[in-house]
Amino acid sequence: MIREELIFVVTCDISGLARGKGFPARELPLRLKKGVGWTGSNLMMSPFGPIWDTPFGTAGDFMIVPDPAAEVRVDFADGSAIEHFFLGDICNTDGSAWECCPRDFLRRAIWQLEEVAHLRVIAAFEQEFLYTGTSDRPGDAYALGAFRRQGCFGESFVAALRAAGVVPDTFLAEYGPRQFEVTVMPEPALTAADHAVITREMARAVAHRLGHRVIFSPKPDPDLVGNGVHIHMSLVDAAGRPATHSPGEPMDLSKPAQHFFAGVLHHMPATCSITAPSPVSYLRLVPNAWAPTLIDLVRQDRGASLRICPVFAAATANEVARQFHVEFRPTDAAASPYLALGAVIFAGADGIRRALPLPATSGAPPSLPRSLPDALDRLAASETVAGWFGPTHFDAYLRFKRVEAEKVAELSPAELCARYAEVY
Ligand code: GLU
Ligand code: MG
Repeated sequence: MIREELIFVVTCDISGLARGKGFPARELPLRLKKGVGWTGSNLMMSPFGPIWDTPFGTAGDFMIVPDPAAEVRVDFADGSAIEHFFLGDICNTDGSAWECCPRDFLRRAIWQLEEVAHLRVIAAFEQEFLYTGTSDRPGDAYALGAFRRQGCFGESFVAALRAAGVVPDTFLAEYGPRQFEVTVMPEPALTAADHAVITREMARAVAHRLGHRVIFSPKPDPDLVGNGVHIHMSLVDAAGRPATHSPGEPMDLSKPAQHFFAGVLHHMPATCSITAPSPVSYLRLVPNAWAPTLIDLVRQDRGASLRICPVFAAATANEVARQFHVEFRPTDAAASPYLALGAVIFAGADGIRRALPLPATSGAPPSLPRSLPDALDRLAASETVAGWFGPTHFDAYLRFKRVEAEKVAELSPAELCARYAEVY
């Protein structure tokens, strides 16, 4: 059949989903300049599709402009359409960044940290999901059998990631039934967030071609472990040298890293509504599920919100400093990686600016918010976080999330899990 290659331009929006528009590939030179048309209210599309509330109405024109540095072109060589897309920025018609562009939120956070401390974040996203193309059997947790029974999904997924410019680190059968995990190599923050979006889309693209689905929803079933997204992070100085480790200091963290992570903890009650942004996220953040419930920084504890990761087989101090990093765990795939990582970096930059100390190790750490409405109340009360967003974006975010919480408030935990598993 006659065919012509198409390209799609993507924004990963407030719902954490990849949305945008397509055009014939031959128009790329023009589209690199003028992007594809978008409206303010497109930002307000709920995870389920409908726009329930919007400050923008039907007015306004924006464009999603493809970033040539964030192009994916993967030919699966099976006769299916080529996966050709660009991650893009939502811009005003004059080409300047729109206040509500999720990718620009992260970019502003990166600038803020550079301005405050001349530091940058290097990050890697670890993401969990279910693959529907396999059956669950008792004893499958981390099992070679479970790894084998996913068939060629894993091999195609890893190949697709590599073809998309993302370097895979590990792929494994996780603890839960039909649950898998993928980790990719660390990159500077903006690229790391791009790679998180690309990783989800490559998993979806491969599963789709095999006639199945992947489910990234934070809690696919109330009785099973959730799907976490963990952000592994370290700081580097302007010359790219590791700047997180300082042996003998509290938690072996350098002074700027102590302030950075103190800021992350300080703002966590409010930023939880950005990193764990859906009603179903709070079914994941429960005790005994390998997910965090407290606002804490702990050495090598997978129940903590911030986990200081181990250093493996490092022979030199330099290698230790290079490996040493912290894992941010209270996030999931309902969050746009741009907003989640942006919120963490803004919080860390604020911690450095205010020279916040790490919390005392004595005494019980505070709890994470227990529901999305709780977290949104904390967000609404934070003038600092409002400043990171800007007035239009902050209002849009709160409206979006409040109406989302209201719309599913009557669902039972099982119904809520089922509803979100359809979408994510
Ligand atoms: N599934 C757990 C979560 O919801 C994480 C398990 C792990 O430590 O990788 O975050
Ligand atoms: Mg895991």
